[in-house]
Amino acid sequence: MTKGSVRNETPPEGKACAAPGCTTPIVPLPTGRLARFCSDACRGRAHRHRHTPVPTTAEADMGSASSRGRHPDRAWLVRLRRGHRTVIVAMGLRQPAADRLVEQINDLLADPA
Ligand SMILES: [Zn+2]
Repeated sequence: MTKGSVRNETPPEGKACAAPGCTTPIVPLPTGRLARFCSDACRGRAHRHRHTPVPTTAEADMGSASSRGRHPDRAWLVRLRRGHRTVIVAMGLRQPAADRLVEQINDLLADPA
């Protein structure tokens, strides 16, 4: 190891607050370890963000009937959504059936049991 090398020191830039949506750079303090957050508010926000469950909901949507040779009446699909992720759970439904299924799934998901 060469004395005087600064390669292993924390770079003064490229480290930002770890809170979601915050880009405030973290200023290294002369003592102690590098903070992860720029403020107590950001620390609290990040904590709540981690511990807030993203809700799962069902939704009905009109699928593309023409490409599958389905009658337009049976063009509805039902999907589950959580955040950006979705899973189609039923296709080729009439709208009343799709709406009913959505209602049943959302009832089930809302049941705290
Ligand atoms: Zn921050």
